[in-house]
Amino acid sequence: MKEKVLIFSGAGVSAESGLRTFRDMGGLWNEYAVEEVASPEGWAKNPELVLRFYNERRRAVISAQPNEAHRAIARLEEFFDVVVITQNIDDLHERAGSSKVIHLHGEIVRARSSVDPNLTCQLDGADLEIGDTCEKGSQLRPDVVWFGEEVRLMRAAEKYVANAERIITVGTSLTVHPAAGLLKKAKFSSEKYLVSVDEMHPPYGHRFLRGSATMVVPHIVNCWIAGRKP
Ligand code: NAD
Repeated sequence: MKEKVLIFSGAGVSAESGLRTFRDMGGLWNEYAVEEVASPEGWAKNPELVLRFYNERRRAVISAQPNEAHRAIARLEEFFDVVVITQNIDDLHERAGSSKVIHLHGEIVRARSSVDPNLTCQLDGADLEIGDTCEKGSQLRPDVVWFGEEVRLMRAAEKYVANAERIITVGTSLTVHPAAGLLKKAKFSSEKYLVSVDEMHPPYGHRFLRGSATMVVPHIVNCWIAGRKP
């Protein structure tokens, strides 16, 4: 049986694909007020602004390509039983070839009904506009989790974290809750690395490896595949 590997990723893993993080210097939140573009209240007040914000983000995601970190993570599947839990709303892990990806905060390439959260559809590159409706006739919204809304699949995610023998946490400031608290569930005995370009205090028994995702993640993956410790 293959060993279980868990990847926990955030906006930093996609930074070198050209997708900006929210909180880093120059992050998106500097240009848009969070509560106006990523909350149910913002949606009620100005849906055009919300759709415009996510249409811009979606176009950027569609034209971005997976980077060496995404590809190295996908390569692990040949040797390990891998689950990726991501806070990202982009689809770069999937496009790199990862087959089990849990999106805690939803997916920007999908839309959902604003009355029935179970009615979702793929967007195939199209912008979402006022007047685009689901089959029940209600306005479609981005299928992403806004502030104040429930994070998806937390139970399943906790189980994967608890069962993992090896964990790489990459490109997340671990400040967005409840997602950031997931790592508390990790086994004491598991081998855990935290990868970031910025100095961070590694949580719950992680070893901190400072550097960019595209340098450090392939290094860890190559070591693991070769049967060495990074
Ligand atoms: P964050 O912006 O809070 O933190 C990003 C972290 O990545 C920082 O610690 C930073 O030092 C690190 N980082 C930046 N560039 C890096 C690189 N090249 N290599 C390694 N590390 C790097 O991101 P977060 O913790 O994911 O939380 C922010 C929220 O914003 C999430 O909920 C996420 O859904 C959302 N978001 C998603 C995307 C996306 O889907 N690509 C982009 C922006 C924001």
